[in-house]
Amino acid sequence: MTVITRFPPSPTGFLHIGGARTALFNWLYARKTGGEMILRIEDTDRKRSTQEAIDVILEGMKWLCLTWDSGPFYQTERFDRYHAVIDKLLAQGDAYYCLCSKARLDEIRTAQMRRGEKPRYDGCCRDLAVVPTPAEAGKSTVVRFRNPQQADGGLSAVVFEDVVRGRVEISNAELDDLIIQRSDGTPTYNLTVVVDDMDMKMTHVIRGEDHINNTPRQINIFNALGATLPIFAHVPLILGEDGKRLSKRHGAVSVLQYRDLGILPEALLNYLVRLGWSHGDKEVFTLDEMIELFDIKDINKSPAAFNMDKLLWINQHYISSIDSSRLVTEVGRRMTSRGMSICNGPGLAEVLEVMRTRAQTLEEMVDSITYLYCPIDDYDGSAVEKHINDGSVKLLQAVSHSLAKLAEWRVENIGAAVKAVVAEQGVKFPHLAQPLRIAVSGSVATPSIDVTLKLMGKEKTLQRIEKAIERFAVKI
Ligand code: GLU
Repeated sequence: MTVITRFPPSPTGFLHIGGARTALFNWLYARKTGGEMILRIEDTDRKRSTQEAIDVILEGMKWLCLTWDSGPFYQTERFDRYHAVIDKLLAQGDAYYCLCSKARLDEIRTAQMRRGEKPRYDGCCRDLAVVPTPAEAGKSTVVRFRNPQQADGGLSAVVFEDVVRGRVEISNAELDDLIIQRSDGTPTYNLTVVVDDMDMKMTHVIRGEDHINNTPRQINIFNALGATLPIFAHVPLILGEDGKRLSKRHGAVSVLQYRDLGILPEALLNYLVRLGWSHGDKEVFTLDEMIELFDIKDINKSPAAFNMDKLLWINQHYISSIDSSRLVTEVGRRMTSRGMSICNGPGLAEVLEVMRTRAQTLEEMVDSITYLYCPIDDYDGSAVEKHINDGSVKLLQAVSHSLAKLAEWRVENIGAAVKAVVAEQGVKFPHLAQPLRIAVSGSVATPSIDVTLKLMGKEKTLQRIEKAIERFAVKI
C-alpha cells in the first residue's frame, strides 16, 4: 500500500503555525514511507477564500520546503463531482431535501437551548412521505445527509481507532443529519472532504484535533459511498504559554511572520516537529533524521505549548551551524532589502564567522553588524552616559595615535596596541575599550575590541574615533 497523505488548508487567512505543523507531519510521514503528499486548497467558502491567502500559503510551504507530490487541487474546480456524489446519495436514499424554513430551524434551536440540549436538527424532513423532486424542492433548498440511526437498522455508534487518541466511539444518536449542500447549491466541508479523500485515495488523514468531531460524520458518509476508510490521526492543538489555544493574541502565528523575524526554515521545522512529537530527549533534528525517526504513532496525546524562547534557541543553533555560504546569502538578502550595501564594509563571510554565535535571529544579526556597513546615526545614550567621562577623550586620542602607527591591521597588533595604551595611561581595560566600542559602533554591543576594529578596517576605525573625539569633547 502506498501511503497517501494530504494537507488541505482553507485559504481564508495566512499559513498558521498549527497548519504548518500539520503539513509537516503529513509530509514527514509520506517521505518516511515512500508515499505521497497531496496539497488541496479547500476554497469552497467563496466569501472568505482569497487568492492572496492561497499565494501566502503556497509561499509558506515553499519557504519551509514542504513540497507536495500532487496538486494543488482546488475544491472550487470539483463542484461537478460533488454534485454528482450528492445526486448519488439522494438517489440511494442516504440524503434528502430538507424543506424546513429558517424560521422553523431557529425555533427548534431556541427551544432545545432553553431545555439545555445540544442544538440539532430534529429530522422533520427525514422521512417525508412524498419526497420532493429537485424542481419541486427548489434551488433554495438544502440537502441533508441521512445519518444512520439504530432505529433504522444502522449501527448504534461510529467507532474508529485514532492513531493518536486510540479508540473513539460516538453514538449515532448524537449525530444529526448534517447539511451537505447549502441552499445556494454549494457543497459543504464534510461532504467535499470525504469525496476528495475518497477520490484521491487517501490512506492517512493526519489533522488537528479540532476536526475530531467531524470524523464520525465523515466516516458515515464514507460508508454510505462504499469507500475505504483512511486511517485517522488527530494531532493535539498548539497552545499559547497561557494554556489557551494559540492565536494572534499570543503574537506571531503566521509562518511568514517567522520568516520575516529572521527564523531559518530548518529551525522552524525542527521546532514544529517537537511540538507534539518527541524522540527521547533529542531536540535537534536534521531533516533526514526527522524523516527517519518520525512516526505518527509517537505523536503525543497532550497539547503542546508554543515557546518562543525555545524556538529562538533552536534558531540560534542553526544560525551558528549552517553552511557559511548559506548564512551569507540569508543575511546578505536581508541587508539588501534594508537598502544596505554589502560592498560598504568587510567581507560578509568573515563578519558572520565572528558573529554567528551571537544572534538569535537573522534580523538581529543584521542589526548587530549594521555599524560595519553604514554610518552611525547616533551614539547609544545610555552607553555614553555610563562609559564616557572626562578621561575618555584623552584615551581615545592616545589609542587613535597608536593605532594609526600600525603597519599591519591584524587582530593581534590591534589588541597589543590597545593594551599598551591601557598600561601607559594607567586605566582599567574597559575604560578604554568601552569608549572605543561606542566610537566605532555607536554602542557597546560588539565582539572583542580587537576583532571589532579588525573588521571595521583601519581607515574607518580612525575616522570614527576622530568623530567621537569631536563629539565627546563638546559633551564634556
Ligand atoms: N480545510 C480544513 C482546515 O483548514 C482541513 C480539513 C481536514 O484536514 O480535513 O481546517
